[in-house]
Amino acid sequence: MDRPGFDLIAFDGDDTLWHNERSYRHARERFRRLLSSAGVDLSDDEIEACVNRTELENIDYYGYGVSSFTLSLIETAIDLTGGRVGGSDLAGLIELAKEMLSEEIELFESARGALAALSATHPLMLITKGDLLHQTSKLERSGLQPFFKYVEVVSHKTPRVYASILARHGVDPERFLMIGNSLRSDVLPVIEIGARAVHVPAALSWAHEHADVPEEAKDRFIELPSLESLAELVASLESPASSSSARK
Ligand SMILES: [Mg+2]
Repeated sequence: MDRPGFDLIAFDGDDTLWHNERSYRHARERFRRLLSSAGVDLSDDEIEACVNRTELENIDYYGYGVSSFTLSLIETAIDLTGGRVGGSDLAGLIELAKEMLSEEIELFESARGALAALSATHPLMLITKGDLLHQTSKLERSGLQPFFKYVEVVSHKTPRVYASILARHGVDPERFLMIGNSLRSDVLPVIEIGARAVHVPAALSWAHEHADVPEEAKDRFIELPSLESLAELVASLESPASSSSARK
């Protein structure tokens, strides 16, 4: 049982396996147009800053996801119009949310291949944060569900949340690998509990998901430009010659 290797490999979903942030960018653009037609005289950057601030303040109330985002847009619209935003504009925001919740899932190019290769050799888990119904629906519509043995939809991705998932599944953190686009959510909390991580940066990511990496953490995860070479990387990490627990 002292084979170097992973008993469980987990993936993030949004902006790791499928596109997500660009849908939020598009929604923010439509929101800015709606506010300017409602007579709000602010620059795009100022509106963006207000939305971001409201979203961050609301995470403790509503968590992550489209529902939370929509409530934050509605709140920002009410604030920035001094309460004058009309019912039809609010209806437009609700319609926008429904479009986001039902839009087609578009996978990253190498997602399916990486999951197909690794699911043949390891149990895979999806660990995603956000609305339970939306996340499970995205997984179903992605066609990737058969590759995952386990699915965890969580409200936050903290070290404690990861530790409790691993404890529940009886997995030693040293034998766990997490793959994701977010340093804040998929990498730093995972290395904090002694597990390993692969960071696959996405071209578009929500500003909130960026994080400064402490110096001592810099050589404890691996960065890959895409999922294409992931299976190869995992094999090299698991080969007996690979004695180091992480490399960059
Ligand atoms: Mg993500």
